[in-house]
Amino acid sequence: AKARVAVIGGGYGGATAAKYVRLLSDYRIDVVLIEPNEAFVSCPISNLVIGGSRQIAHITTPYDGLARKHGVRVVRDMATAVDTRRKTITLASGATMAYDKLIMAPGIELDFAAVEGLQPAHAAGQVLHAWKAGPETLALRRQLEAMPDGGVYAITVPEQPYRCPPGPYERACQVAWYFKHAKPRSKVLILDANQDVTSKGALFKKVWAGQYQGMIEYRPQHKVAAVDARAGVLKFEVQDDVKASVLNVVPPMRAGRIAGQSGLANVNGRWCGVDYLTFESAVAKDVHVLGDSIQLAPLMPKSGHMANSHAKVAAAAVVAQLAGWPVNPAPMLTNTCYSYVDDRNVVHVASVHSYVAAEKTFKTVPGSGGLSPAPNEMEGIYAWNWAQNIWADTLA
Ligand code: FAD
Repeated sequence: AKARVAVIGGGYGGATAAKYVRLLSDYRIDVVLIEPNEAFVSCPISNLVIGGSRQIAHITTPYDGLARKHGVRVVRDMATAVDTRRKTITLASGATMAYDKLIMAPGIELDFAAVEGLQPAHAAGQVLHAWKAGPETLALRRQLEAMPDGGVYAITVPEQPYRCPPGPYERACQVAWYFKHAKPRSKVLILDANQDVTSKGALFKKVWAGQYQGMIEYRPQHKVAAVDARAGVLKFEVQDDVKASVLNVVPPMRAGRIAGQSGLANVNGRWCGVDYLTFESAVAKDVHVLGDSIQLAPLMPKSGHMANSHAKVAAAAVVAQLAGWPVNPAPMLTNTCYSYVDDRNVVHVASVHSYVAAEKTFKTVPGSGGLSPAPNEMEGIYAWNWAQNIWADTLA
C-alpha cells in the first residue's frame, strides 16, 4: 500500500509540508491535510488590513491549489485527538484516520488564562488580539473606525517567545498611520512586557520619534495582569493602570492546542521539542512538528518564513525516512521579516541558519543576513512580492 502522511494544520508550515511531501516523493506518497478553515488567511500583511491600506481579500488564498495541482487531499475538519502509539487521528466529525507519518503544524494557542478577565472580554468581542488573521482582523479594524478622534489605542506585547517578534511594533505603526490621516488627535500606546523592543528596535524607535512623533508612546516592562473591559482599563504586575478606548491585548502563547493535548509540548509544557535534523518530535516517533509550535534554537524567530523553511526540511526528511534513504545531514533555514511602517515604507531583518551536527542545533551563518539602514519604498515593493511568492510557494 502507498504510504500516508497526514498533516494537521494548513498554515505556513503545514500547507508547505503537504505540498513538498507530494513534490519530493514524485507524487508517490498520499498526503491528507486536515484544516478547519475554508481558506488560508495570512497573518503577514494583516496589519495593513488593520491600518486600512489593504483589504482582507488581499491576504486570503483558497486551498484548492493544493488539491488541484498537487493531489493533496484537503479535509475540512479539526483534529481533536492523536494517538501517537497507535498512529491514529480523531477528527471533530467523528472519523478516525491512520497515518504512517504525521506532520503537526497547528500554530499557536493563546493563553487567555494568563490575563485575568481576558477570556470573557474576548468572547464578548470587546478585547481582541487579532493574532490569528481572519474575522478578528476585521473586528479590530471596526473598533478603530468606531473610536472617536482623541481616543487611545493600547496594544500589549507578551514576553518572548511569541509569534512574530516585530508584529506588535508594525501594528502600532499601522494604527498610527491610520490615525494620522483620519483621527489626528488620537494616540497609540505600546505596553511591552519585555525590557525593550526585541526586533528592529532602533529602526522602529526612529520611526516613532520621526513620522509618528507625539502619537506613539512606548512603555517597556509593562506585563499585563488583568483587563477590565467595561471600564477600558488594563492592570499591570508592577506599573499603574492604563485607560484606553481600544484595548488590543496579545496574551502569552504556547504550541497549538492539539499539540499539547497529544503530549508533544515537552518544553515547559508550552512548546514542542524536536530533533532539528528532521523536525521529528523529541517524544513521539513518526510525528514531525514544525512552525510556531516548536521550541526554537536561539535567534530563530516564530515567523511564517521560518515555518515554510522548516516544512521543506521536514518534508525531505519524511520522504527520505519512508523510502529508507539517509536524511540530509546539513539542512539550512532562511528567514526574512518585513515590517511596514506606513502604507509603503518597509524595514526588514534577515538571517540564514545552518545545522551544526556537533551541537544538534541550528546556528546563524556568520556574515549572513542583515537589517535595513532605514525604512524605504523599494523594500515596500520587495515586501509585497515576498508575500505573493510565499503564498504561491505554500499553496499553489
Ligand atoms: P499558522 O500559520 O497559524 O497555521 C496553523 C494552522 O493550523 C491554522 O490554519 C489552523 O486553523 C490550523 N489548526 C490548528 N489547530 C488545528 C487542529 N486541531 N486541526 C486542524 N487544523 C488545526 N511571519 C513572517 O514571516 N513575516 C511577516 O511579515 C509576519 N507578519 C505577521 C504579522 C502578524 C500580525 C502576525 C500575528 C504574525 C505574523 N507573522 C509573520 C508570523 C506568522 O504568521 C506565523 O509565524 C506563521 O503563521 C506560523 O505558521 P504555522 O504554520 O506554525 O501556524
